[in-house]
Amino acid sequence: MKKKKRFFPLPWMLLLSVFLFCSLKCSNPSVEEEGKMRIAIATFSHETCTFCPDPTTIEDWEYWGPPTRDILHENRGYIGGFKKLCDEYGGVELVGITSPRGARGGSSGSWITQEAFDKYTGLIAADLEVLGPFDGVYLSLHGAMAVTGIPKPEAEIVRRVRAVVGPVPIMVALDLHANEDHELSDAADAVFIIKRYPHYDTNLIGEHAARVMIKTLRGEYKPVMAARKPKVITPSVFQGTGVSPAMEIMERARRWECRFDDVYVSVAFGFAYADVPDVGATVMVVTNNDQDLADRIADDMSEYIWRMREVFAGKKLPKTKEGVRLAIEAARSGKIPVVIADHSDRTGGSTHILAELIAQKAENFCIATLRDEKAIDLIKTNNKVGDKVIVEVGGYSDHLAGEPVRLEGEVEFLGDYRGETLVVLRFGGNNRVILTPQLMQVTDTSIFVPLGIDVDQLEIIVLKSRVHFRRGYYENGLAGAIIEVDAPGLGPADLRLLPYKNIPTDLYPIFRQD
Ligand SMILES: [Zn+2]
Repeated sequence: MKKKKRFFPLPWMLLLSVFLFCSLKCSNPSVEEEGKMRIAIATFSHETCTFCPDPTTIEDWEYWGPPTRDILHENRGYIGGFKKLCDEYGGVELVGITSPRGARGGSSGSWITQEAFDKYTGLIAADLEVLGPFDGVYLSLHGAMAVTGIPKPEAEIVRRVRAVVGPVPIMVALDLHANEDHELSDAADAVFIIKRYPHYDTNLIGEHAARVMIKTLRGEYKPVMAARKPKVITPSVFQGTGVSPAMEIMERARRWECRFDDVYVSVAFGFAYADVPDVGATVMVVTNNDQDLADRIADDMSEYIWRMREVFAGKKLPKTKEGVRLAIEAARSGKIPVVIADHSDRTGGSTHILAELIAQKAENFCIATLRDEKAIDLIKTNNKVGDKVIVEVGGYSDHLAGEPVRLEGEVEFLGDYRGETLVVLRFGGNNRVILTPQLMQVTDTSIFVPLGIDVDQLEIIVLKSRVHFRRGYYENGLAGAIIEVDAPGLGPADLRLLPYKNIPTDLYPIFRQD
């Protein structure tokens, strides 16, 4: 029998020493110069309307498919922007971590079940364990998630991620509707929030996060943060950053960013329709190892938002009757199309404005859209395009959605649009309603052509949108007039109408009028 060699020959010894040296260096938190930085990316995003009726369950989260690691294919958005900058820097390996897709119904969904939250944070944590170790973690979280039994879900996500990855940088990107406080900035190393509503700058905020991440991993940046709650709560309809005073608040943030290098000043206006303890505006400032500067800027921004509270949070909008009257008046004076923002309808099936338009004998209007899965099923089963129908629509998606409206009209469209069956009914004086199975927020005119609707013929367009519609109707100069109508709904402009139970009792304008 051949005797085994009991010693390593010299070339093997050399190779082994190189390997040992390399492993020692790579296990060091400061990243090896010539090695690639490994950054994990995960996303778990929701804007939860806790006043809406239906909880957001695992079934809703997986309606569009199971959780996936395939989250790095987009070239825009929070993750696309992050990826783009990493590509520009080079030397970065990005690893997609199993993440849930969007939940069906989006922001019309109520409390996320703890089961769903635990499942997806568990999947993220398990994947980080399996695919790690990592030099850093980037989380795209939105920030307005409300979970049964978990008061501050995004901070909890970061803590659960931290438990797996240890003391490596964890950086978070958020929507400006985020409800957060210092718990998130305590848990994460840096937080970045978009500045524009409609949300145009998600890719830019991804780039900011990537730059700070890479510089931090190179030892060129040490993120420190300051977080403040200005104690101001606003409905989404007041938060458009193309108009005052939201515009001035973001301008002030940008001014601070221009005055100092490597400073990132974020303001989340918050999502008022979530009954959570950290609801309302939040300021988050990231600086390069300058806590005093972070605190100074955060104080200034917070005080400024407080000073602006009356113009920002105390506006009044016309109610249904008056709003519809103003819209008809504007249409008759030729300012067409008039856009009515039916901003308070969070579930999509509210009929108040439809009923009032009929009552005030409006013509050439289009309700884009009205949620009614039952009417769609009924028409799909019994009718075809061109059929005359009598059908009751809407009025049941929540307890404030109004009464169903009886329409006598013609099926003008029945078919697929972006994976859902839609119906267009034409009735009365050339009026239309687009029926959708779920809340569908129409933010531009692209929906009309495939549905066979000539947008030039429309005098009044009713949208279930607060601000995002401004992208395709205001910023391109299309709308002749815009009327934000405060119909009864689960998302009223007057937040004092909401039955909050969990929010702080010192928020303006709900509890404080001073
Ligand atoms: Zn948003």
